Amino acid sequence: MAKPPEAKSAIWSPPASHASLAVSRIAWLPKTIWWGITVTFFDYSLKRQMLWGASAIILGAALLGSGAYWAASRIDENVLIREQHLASIGVDEVADRVVKEQDGSTIWDDALLAARANDTSWLADNLVEWLGDFYGHEYVVLLDPSNRPMQIAQGGGAAEIASYTALEATIAPIVTTLREEMNAASAGLTDSNESITGLGQSGFVKFPDRSVGLVSIRPILSDTGELKQRPGDEFLHVSVEMVNRALVKEIADRFGLTNLQFRMDQPATAASLPITGRDGSTVGWLEWQTEHPALRLLQNTLPAVFAALALAVLFLIAMLKRLHNTSRSLRDTEQKARRLAFHDHLTGLPNRALFEDRLEQAAASAHEGNATFALYYLDLDQFKYVNDTRGHPVGDELIRQVAARLLMAKGKADTVARLGGDEFAVIQAKVTARHDAEEFAAHMLEQFEPSFDLFGEEARIGVSIGGVIAEGAVPPDDLMRTADIALYEAKGDGRGRFRLFTGSMDEKVRQRRALDDDLRSAIDTKEGLHLVYQPIHRANGEMAGVEALARWTHPVHGPIGPDLFIALAEERGSIEQLGNWVINTACDLAVRLPLPWIAINVSPLQLRDPFFANRLLALLSARGIEPARLQIEMTEGVLLQGSPTVKATINQLRSAGVRVALDDFGTGYSSITYLRDYGIDKLKIDKSFVDKLGHDEESASIVAAIIDLAQAMKMTITAEGVETELQASMLRRMGVTELQGYLLSRPLMESQVVELVQPRKRARKPEPHRSYEPAFRF
Ligand code: C2E
Ligand code: CA
Ligand code: CA
Repeated sequence: MAKPPEAKSAIWSPPASHASLAVSRIAWLPKTIWWGITVTFFDYSLKRQMLWGASAIILGAALLGSGAYWAASRIDENVLIREQHLASIGVDEVADRVVKEQDGSTIWDDALLAARANDTSWLADNLVEWLGDFYGHEYVVLLDPSNRPMQIAQGGGAAEIASYTALEATIAPIVTTLREEMNAASAGLTDSNESITGLGQSGFVKFPDRSVGLVSIRPILSDTGELKQRPGDEFLHVSVEMVNRALVKEIADRFGLTNLQFRMDQPATAASLPITGRDGSTVGWLEWQTEHPALRLLQNTLPAVFAALALAVLFLIAMLKRLHNTSRSLRDTEQKARRLAFHDHLTGLPNRALFEDRLEQAAASAHEGNATFALYYLDLDQFKYVNDTRGHPVGDELIRQVAARLLMAKGKADTVARLGGDEFAVIQAKVTARHDAEEFAAHMLEQFEPSFDLFGEEARIGVSIGGVIAEGAVPPDDLMRTADIALYEAKGDGRGRFRLFTGSMDEKVRQRRALDDDLRSAIDTKEGLHLVYQPIHRANGEMAGVEALARWTHPVHGPIGPDLFIALAEERGSIEQLGNWVINTACDLAVRLPLPWIAINVSPLQLRDPFFANRLLALLSARGIEPARLQIEMTEGVLLQGSPTVKATINQLRSAGVRVALDDFGTGYSSITYLRDYGIDKLKIDKSFVDKLGHDEESASIVAAIIDLAQAMKMTITAEGVETELQASMLRRMGVTELQGYLLSRPLMESQVVELVQPRKRARKPEPHRSYEPAFRF
């Protein structure tokens, strides 16, 4: 992969972490389901609660309402019964009153005497007109023993005797009844006075003109008993009180009956009382307006009660609604969380977890013989560059656009996932032959042909694609591994390429693994490993220092170039041991020889170790090596990662006096920002520029620009790979500080360096090889 190996291992998890991811996902899923069920159930029970709560309140209200209505009706019925009772008492009292008023004048010796004497004026003043006038009796009639009217008053004034005829038909039968009663009481007696005392007839009657009156007939009696009356010779006193407004008002006022009225026909309401006539017939009705106090109270209070209940219902609904909303937002959050857990937040594409799930499904159905499919890994070329030079928002935008283009390219059943960073994976369904995969990959590559518009700036971005066709039962882990190998191959072929995995790739991987095993044992035994040292000269020709370069002679394959075995060690994780061996070996030489300094090449992976600086400085101090006598060379890639650990390591080393050089400058992204951010002591202009000096104007101006820049930033400039005098003189003219290359010196064996630095000393007293056993090793 073109990406620095440390980035690879950070993004491409090793199989162990695939497994742990799968486990954590499996453990996570039931939790999600449980949560989902809880939320759904909660939601469901909420709706039920809402229904139940509201129904209970409404039912309660209905029960309460009808109960209250029933109670109020009962109360009001009792009130009505009491009112009817009062009305009937009122009627009776009126009847009693008329009788008593009569008795006040009729039981009187003077009245009997006046009647006998037919003293009309006395009778008028005391018994007839007077009674009508004083008590308001409508008719007052005095009948003689033969029931003939002697005197009549109407409305309190004297009336014609003849007017009695209008009343006679009604009154005569009552008179007859009374006479019979009196006769019966006094039969055989000479004086009736005592036996008829208390006798009388009264009652309601209806007159021919349909008016209703209360008739009372009493005999005139001696109050002393001194005046004897022969039975049958008694005078009768008739009083008629008309049932009229005044009479009704009298009852109403006395008993507090509202709107009391007398009427002839039967009222529709229960608040009424029939008035029974003497003959037992109903002569009319009293009607009033009953109060219904309880119902009134209910009417007055019920709206408030119902309003309160309605409020309670509303409150309940609001509360439950709120709860409901809360539960819904919980569910939304859960859904979002689930989405986030399985989707990439930037592109919305399935993330690694979901991708692995889909891959497992695809592999399972391929295993069942249902379908074959292809898996592709995609890696953007130069994404880091875009991200670092244009900023993360632009990098994000690029990733989004790439995702959109891949989605356009994919088929319906295919899955496009973002695995992280600039890495995507595609599962292509229904792949029957090699050319299906090749066609699809070519189609994906085509998507990258148009340039990307990144906030107004055009950018051409390539992609490398590695693919593998799943045939038969292939475990997903193997598919991922082989797709990764194919991607690695595609990147090795240059940018914008597609490689389909073949068995030979696997073979190559196997070979690399075997080679790595050999390298590890070489590191362990130190067999076949050694360092060579290439001198670096000042512009004036003096030797400034040496760069240590690792060499490995394989027991079978012979010498293997550091480009190959260093990359292998980085890829397979043995770089740290190898690097430690380099440091220790270089320090051995620094202790032995008074070299101004030794430069060692340090892999980015070594710099990621947070204890690297501490360990290196401790080693230097233990070995008694001035930190200034050690330089470390690293490539720009290290800086591009922007790791705080690397930054801290560089700072710590530099402040202790170790100098830091940027190797192969000009080949990477050569961002000035990095140079400013990280303190760098030295730039090493890459050999590719030096090579072109004298042939290529552009390279010369690039080199000149780099030198200007480095001078401005007070950095040392070393030109690498100087092979010709022309290059050397041009570089010196341009102001290069140091020169390194075959022209000046090839990398030297340790003994040659010793010879170079201490030629006489060695001649006098040869040092035995590897005689020095250091007390402290890295
Ligand atoms: P580098 O650090 O750029 O080392 C310089 C490379 O250029 C060396 O190749 C050196 O032999 C070669 N060279 C120097 N002058 C000339 C010249 O005039 N002409 C030509 N054609 N080549 C010249 P080498 O030793 O094969 O190393 C290759 C790379 O391997 C190094 O590039 C360095 O990146 C890496 N490397 C070597 N040793 C170590 C090591 O101990 N640790 C780490 N991490 N990397 C190492
Ligand atoms: Ca170097
Ligand atoms: Ca270099």
